[in-house]
Amino acid sequence: MSKKYVYLFNEGDASMKNLLGGKGANLAEMTNLGIPIPKGFTVTTEACNKYYDDNKVITNDVIEEIHFKIKTLEELTQKTFGGEVNPMLVSVRSGARASMPGMMDTILNLGLNDKTVVVLAKETNNERFAYDSYRRFIMMFADVVMDINKKDFEKILEEMKEVKGVHLDTELSAEDLKELVVKFKDYYKSVKGEEFPQDVNVQLIEAITAVFRSWDNPRANVYRRMNDIPSSWGTAVNVQEMVFGNKGDTSGSGVAFSRNPATGENKIFAEYLMNAQGEDVVAGIRTPSPIEKLAEQMPETYNEFISIVNTLENHYRDMQDMEFTIEEGKLFFLQTRNGKRTAQAALRIAVEMVRDGLTTKERAILMLDPKQIDTLLHPAFDQEEMKLHEVLTSGLPASPGAATGKIAFTALEAKERHEAGENVILVRQETSPEDIEGMIAAEGILTVRGGMTSHAAVVARGMGACCVAGAGELKVDETKRTMTLNGKVYSSEDYISLDGSTGNVYEGKIKTVEPEISGHFSTYMEWADEIRSLKVRTNADTPNDAEQAVKFGAEGIGLTRTEHMFFAEGRIFPMRQMIVARTEEARRTALDKLLPMQKGDFKGIYKAMAGRPVTIRFLDPPLHEFLPTHASEIEELAKELKMTVEELNNVISDLHEFNPMMGHRGCRLAVSYPEIAEMQTRAVVEAAIEVNEEMGWTIIPEIMIPLVGEINELKYVKNIVTKTADAIIKDKGAKLEYHVGTMIEIPRACVTADEIATEADFFSFGTNDLTQMTFGFSRDDAGTFLKHYYAKKVYDFDPFAKLDQEGVGQLVKMAVEKGRSVKPGLKLGVCGEHGGDPSSVEFFHNAGLDYVSCSPYRVPVARLAAAQAEVRNPRKK
Ligand code: ADP
Ligand code: MG
Ligand code: MG
Repeated sequence: MSKKYVYLFNEGDASMKNLLGGKGANLAEMTNLGIPIPKGFTVTTEACNKYYDDNKVITNDVIEEIHFKIKTLEELTQKTFGGEVNPMLVSVRSGARASMPGMMDTILNLGLNDKTVVVLAKETNNERFAYDSYRRFIMMFADVVMDINKKDFEKILEEMKEVKGVHLDTELSAEDLKELVVKFKDYYKSVKGEEFPQDVNVQLIEAITAVFRSWDNPRANVYRRMNDIPSSWGTAVNVQEMVFGNKGDTSGSGVAFSRNPATGENKIFAEYLMNAQGEDVVAGIRTPSPIEKLAEQMPETYNEFISIVNTLENHYRDMQDMEFTIEEGKLFFLQTRNGKRTAQAALRIAVEMVRDGLTTKERAILMLDPKQIDTLLHPAFDQEEMKLHEVLTSGLPASPGAATGKIAFTALEAKERHEAGENVILVRQETSPEDIEGMIAAEGILTVRGGMTSHAAVVARGMGACCVAGAGELKVDETKRTMTLNGKVYSSEDYISLDGSTGNVYEGKIKTVEPEISGHFSTYMEWADEIRSLKVRTNADTPNDAEQAVKFGAEGIGLTRTEHMFFAEGRIFPMRQMIVARTEEARRTALDKLLPMQKGDFKGIYKAMAGRPVTIRFLDPPLHEFLPTHASEIEELAKELKMTVEELNNVISDLHEFNPMMGHRGCRLAVSYPEIAEMQTRAVVEAAIEVNEEMGWTIIPEIMIPLVGEINELKYVKNIVTKTADAIIKDKGAKLEYHVGTMIEIPRACVTADEIATEADFFSFGTNDLTQMTFGFSRDDAGTFLKHYYAKKVYDFDPFAKLDQEGVGQLVKMAVEKGRSVKPGLKLGVCGEHGGDPSSVEFFHNAGLDYVSCSPYRVPVARLAAAQAEVRNPRKK
């Protein structure tokens, strides 16, 4: 039997998201629930993948299946596609597995042509409506399918409104719209050199093809990379009978959230426009009315609306984001999905839904995107300083947070100035999906038009960026690059500040402060901690970082980089003395000066961690990194070191390496200069003994040897460590347990992990270096060429941000298996950047690691990601 590529809505359900896309699966589910939705079918994501496999054509077998389903739809609706009586119009809607708001394209009113529009006008006795629908269709089809800029049509529309002396689209008469249709078609022909297609089947297949094609458009690609969506998922296409919100004053369309998406308050939040179709509310063309007004206008419809919203939320057990249309008083739902929401709202909704028995802790844990936690930890305005600034104007509090920067007037400008190191606020009339990169680059987004559900608002909430929308008093001139308010003109050199939680816009720069974390946050994170089995440590080099991380829930330190301490004031000099030393004796003299400093640092860190485990990594970077590069600095240093400039230059050139990343660093330094490892061991051990005595604790320090690729390297360095440590312990008559382990960050270490494990008390995967060495490109240089890789679809993701599970991940797994095959209890962790990346955390959970370690601000993210991994794939017995 050949594969099925098209499903009627009543042939699917919500569990079939991978095949039908989120929109299609939920349309099917709503059909099964008996909710009034227009009938239709879904062309599957597999058909999209097949389209790409077949060199971007929809093959005849799939086209036939689509035509067959159109016949079925005609029977179900009692209408005819392209028919001379009762013509059936459809929408063609994209819908991927994960929602990608505004990223891909939708066409409404398909099936209209010069003949059906006349029939429609006659049968509905509403000429205005018929031509309004037709002009919309021509514009969307031209834009989405034929790549003609929508703005050109909007301009023709604006000109027409001016000529007719009206302000709103709705004020145009049937005759005006007829005229507009002619103008639109003429324009279409002038650009394409052919007539607007009249064959409805051609319209349909072209439209479906365009949706498939849109899966690969640049803005969709950027969005996917930001949101971990692989290009292999493909998008589905929904073909659905049209219902009309533009049929007059008893029709309308709108969007709804079952709870407030900004605050989480358990109150339906919805907006609608009368006599409007589809996108009008989102586009911010007219200002929508709150749903409460519908209760006065159409009480019955309103009641039905409320009851369906409640049904949907109870059914999905999560806050729903819905679209609806009212056609001459009759209500239809067009979409539902789990709604995007701010982090604050997400926490409140999750906690209240568990409290009210609507969901379980486990399901609630899956309700937040771990990346959202980030926004809770980010700054707000300093209240005192804010009082000194006057509110310039205000708009809607579309997405919380605080942002300060200079004004950028286009997305491109925002992106370029951001890359040049400036903080910018993107100020736009309204945003559209083309603006995505500028929105990412900006500190905050300010729009003149649009509501809480406008593009800017939805996208900003999704990315956790601060956004104020619909600040209607502003006049923005993109060409002159000015923003005007009450006669005062602001340019790209002026600072403004946005408060996304109040909607206020301020002149100038306002200081920001750390956020207060709400009670819901701690309740929720307690649940995450109860659930997860993967531990979360932090990477911290100073007592301050360590304390911050403990506040964020770190259970230990997975990585202290000892070299960072050497760069500090007063330390770099003995460090440099040590490096330029030509004899062991001279080196030891310099190391003796470093010892008390390093010991003091370790004591501070142990104390900040209050007895939690601490892993200290020995000196890792190549030594020349500590030496100056400028002639004047070299001269100065030579003087301090009592050397000639020439002598110092000789030392520096001796240390020069062609490829320092693969050069004299990590354990190789300790092999060459064992006295460095001796000094560091002494600092670690003496600090631990002293803190244990002072505090009555039993800290077990963990010494970590970097860049091991061969068991004999580890053996050699470990021997220095144990000899030094044991002598100190004996000498002081103290009791101290300590562990010696290794980083696993060289591919050879993964391959020989069973040997290395015999000498190691623990492994910690250094996935930054492991990624670099597995791919064979430098993490410092990759940025310059990886962008070509994304553009050309060679890679979907940055492997330094998201673990490459198929390559680097397999090496990790191999090392886990080999290591534990000789030492079943071997402790395993990760201390690379990936330890704070949610999808990578899930991989490490599944691979059986004991902990991940990440920067302090990412600790809560990792805690939640670890809990989610446990819910999806339980490891606890
Ligand atoms: P998006 O994913 O960008 O929201 P949609 O496919 O949901 O795109 O459609 C865009 C708009 O058109 C929405 O407001 C939707 O409700 C409306 N719409 C889509 N299909 C129909 C239809 N068959 N009848 C009426 N309105 C529709
Ligand atoms: Mg939609
Ligand atoms: Mg490393």
